[in-house]
Amino acid sequence: MALDEYRRKRDFLKTPEPDGTSPTRPPKSGAGLFFSVQKHLASHLHYDLRLEWNGVLLSWAIPKGPSIDPADKRLAMQTEDHPYDYGSFEGVIPEGYGAGIVMLWDRGTWTSQVPDVDAALARGDLKFSLDGYKLKGSWALVRTRSFGSGSKPGWLLIKHRDEWSGPLNITEFAPLSVKTPDADFADILAAGNPAVWTTNPPAKSGDTGKLFQRIIQQAVAMKAGRARAAPTPERSRKRTKKKSR
Ligand code: MN
Repeated sequence: MALDEYRRKRDFLKTPEPDGTSPTRPPKSGAGLFFSVQKHLASHLHYDLRLEWNGVLLSWAIPKGPSIDPADKRLAMQTEDHPYDYGSFEGVIPEGYGAGIVMLWDRGTWTSQVPDVDAALARGDLKFSLDGYKLKGSWALVRTRSFGSGSKPGWLLIKHRDEWSGPLNITEFAPLSVKTPDADFADILAAGNPAVWTTNPPAKSGDTGKLFQRIIQQAVAMKAGRARAAPTPERSRKRTKKKSR
């Protein structure tokens, strides 16, 4: 079964991730299939691309994230299929596989630009269009022999030149959640238990370790501030003041 590997890697008593037992969507084909990109801060920051196909989500982990610049070819390591309802998940994975913070970075629909998706996947060359909040237009996923292995093949995610391509760095330009308005990793962590990793964060050293430390401190401060008083926009008021000076 397609979701065996997904389930084997996780302990659903310890993670809030969907267990994949809720009814999957009836297999659809053609226009209007679900897609999402989840920004996942774990042992390393990466972006997970999910494309709905045959009731599950085909999945690729993209270390540098998608680029809308056709000059960039972004490595996309294929990972295990995920359950359909995983595609809208956002939250904190406290421990175990993928421990870290998941942000729903983009979502929308995808449409194949070739008639036979299964044949295109088997051939390792899928052309498709995306209609999300951040990613739009025509794209290709091309399998490569230079990276990965049999069970974990490496692909390249490439933006085709069109009205939605350009030299903009989309992950820096639009870094926040599309599920929780204006939420960054710290907001997502603050919504849960920001103290979960005070002693044992998913990454301890290097840039990712530093990033975790900063986010944990921010989240703890946010939660403390919220508990102290002002139910609303202390933060945004301060921001507005700064701008007007
Ligand atoms: Mn991931």
